[in-house]
Amino acid sequence: MKLGFSVKLLLFFIASALFIGAAAYLLSDFRLPFLSRGDSLQINTDTLKYKTVIIDAGHGGEDGGASSAKGLIEKNVNLEISKLLCEMLRENGINVVMTREDDRLLYDRNVDYHGRKKKLDLAARLTIADTTPDAIFISIHMNSFTNPKYSGLQVWYSPNDPDSSTLAGLIQSNNKATLQPENTRKTKVATSSIFLLENATCPAVLVECGFLSNPAEAALFETDEYKQKVASMLFDSITEFLEKSTDV
Ligand SMILES: [Zn+2]
Repeated sequence: MKLGFSVKLLLFFIASALFIGAAAYLLSDFRLPFLSRGDSLQINTDTLKYKTVIIDAGHGGEDGGASSAKGLIEKNVNLEISKLLCEMLRENGINVVMTREDDRLLYDRNVDYHGRKKKLDLAARLTIADTTPDAIFISIHMNSFTNPKYSGLQVWYSPNDPDSSTLAGLIQSNNKATLQPENTRKTKVATSSIFLLENATCPAVLVECGFLSNPAEAALFETDEYKQKVASMLFDSITEFLEKSTDV
């Protein structure tokens, strides 16, 4: 069959339009593995069961927490990741309460705090968790162990609200899917050694983002890029959890 020039031209335009349409459709759903779903996320906060995310940057001030051989201090890494996560959530219209936004422990300087700073600090953090309505609590930490071979993110969850385990599971599996394919760690229910999770009544998790005692993993946390990736992964997990937890 011989087609006239104008028919060929018409077919060419139709084929081009179909190709461009298909490409646009595919690209619209395309996400780079380490980019958060942040920019285009539209959460209707009115229908959410949980209205506030409490971000708890572990340690602070006199209490540095763990440290790496090269001098990276846990309290600083915790706060940096917490601030990045806070910014992403707020940009998407989600209410955030930070337990601390600077380098300090949360004890009342007007009471006799001698020998009780850490205890008072944890009690103050728990009060924030207990008195913020419709909130979830996410504590950010870095791990450490005597044997430097251990690495990998680990999530602990509170035994008091079943949603804690759901949130922990999302974080642990999203981390494996996007950041650490080799990470075979399972979420763990908190024991009495984790005061905040043992006592919090709202959904609460503690994320040990990585081991500062492992030189290779500690080196990752020296870079802004990796801290951003961890914050993005946490953002995706939290928003996925919030979207699933509606009042309707
Ligand atoms: Zn810690």
